Amino acid sequence: MQIKYTMKKAILFFLLQTALSFSQTTDEVMLKQIYKSALTESQCYSWLDDLSNKIGHRLSGSIGAENGVLYTKQQLETLGLDRVYLQEVMVPKWERGAKEVAYVEVGKNKINFPICALGLSVATPKDGISASVIEVKSIEELKTLGAEKVKGKIIFFNRPMNPEFIETFHAYGSCVDQRSSGAREAGELGAVGVIVRSMNLRLDDLPHTGMTNYKDTPMDKRIPAAAISTNGAEALSKLLKTNTNLKLYFKQSCQSYPDVKSYNVIGEIKGSEHPERIMVVGGHLDSWDLGDGSQDDGAGCVQSMAVLELLKKLNYHPKNTIRVVLFMNEENGVKGGTKYGEEAKINKENHIFAMESDSGGFSPRGFSIDSDELNFNKISSWKNLFEPYLIHIFAKGHSGTDIEPIKSENIVKIGLHPDSQRYFDYHHAANDKFDAVNKRELELGAATMASLMYLFDKYN
Ligand SMILES: [Zn+2]
Repeated sequence: MQIKYTMKKAILFFLLQTALSFSQTTDEVMLKQIYKSALTESQCYSWLDDLSNKIGHRLSGSIGAENGVLYTKQQLETLGLDRVYLQEVMVPKWERGAKEVAYVEVGKNKINFPICALGLSVATPKDGISASVIEVKSIEELKTLGAEKVKGKIIFFNRPMNPEFIETFHAYGSCVDQRSSGAREAGELGAVGVIVRSMNLRLDDLPHTGMTNYKDTPMDKRIPAAAISTNGAEALSKLLKTNTNLKLYFKQSCQSYPDVKSYNVIGEIKGSEHPERIMVVGGHLDSWDLGDGSQDDGAGCVQSMAVLELLKKLNYHPKNTIRVVLFMNEENGVKGGTKYGEEAKINKENHIFAMESDSGGFSPRGFSIDSDELNFNKISSWKNLFEPYLIHIFAKGHSGTDIEPIKSENIVKIGLHPDSQRYFDYHHAANDKFDAVNKRELELGAATMASLMYLFDKYN
């Protein structure tokens, strides 16, 4: 009896091992096919070419955003999905107006600085503003100055991104309060304008825009805010050290309009076993207006479209419903993400998984995972499958701004984690254009996302 029992156990163990190694091999083969297909036959790079070069920037409420919606819907309709549709959402409309101007006069010399209005900023008076400048390194420093010193001045926020952070997003996160809250805080103390050092680790001549948030500051109390290039910030700071009476002139004519109708673009493959369980993959279709938003976030959109394209091409039939969502208005309102989350709640949709690519189209390195312990360990156990593709970061962390409002119980949220060293060279600046994105890097990102979708679908 004893022998028989041991043998039975051994056979069982053998079968289990075989099954495990077989499924391991199946997964290895599938990932190989996904990467191969992404690198040889995906349309994602040509989609990005069209978005960037035929359509151009896609600032919320612009004609480019509208064309981006039509184009991506049309392309999704060619993939043989079960459903492609638009989800209506009202978004802010803000326009930059004429090119901004900033200069100081030192003796007979006029020194110009490259600036750009921050998103949603108010304009300066028609003839511009001229005022003394106070340089500060932080909002805390501004507050210690107090209203008496700040009143009537232009506040110049000049804290650089800290180069010691290896993950540049951490440097950004610890610096961006100057851009997002600087105008509101300085305005409360009576400043007349704000100039913010661009969120860029590199020294160059490009100003980087991004949203400034006045929150509930009344319209007539809002002060204009602009970003200055990093070289400009260094030069202005140097001038201020030798000439404290320096007056800076700047002028911008940006304007806000009433909200306009726009859309999230959605396509899906129905799940064969659990159509009611939804897995989302997405990026944001809107962009800033200085470049054409190729890295931020045209790349994330075409990669997300490619996930469904690749799974279709490889004839994979998902158990759960797989849905691509191209969100509108991440940059200056997150109205698309918010709307998607609200509709999901109203329709009692069960989202088990959501992944966003919004960190640039650079070489993928891993995933930022926001989930419970069980799912974190499950996803981490697939690390060896990704090793051949140089994907090694499986870390807990923030997933994506647009998928944040999705609130299903036990949902797993993922942010694609590409190499971040060059992202802030382009982020929200005029050089965020098609040639900033490398074809292979973009495709490897799409394959990495499709692989995780496949694994999560299969084992859930
Ligand atoms: Zn983005």
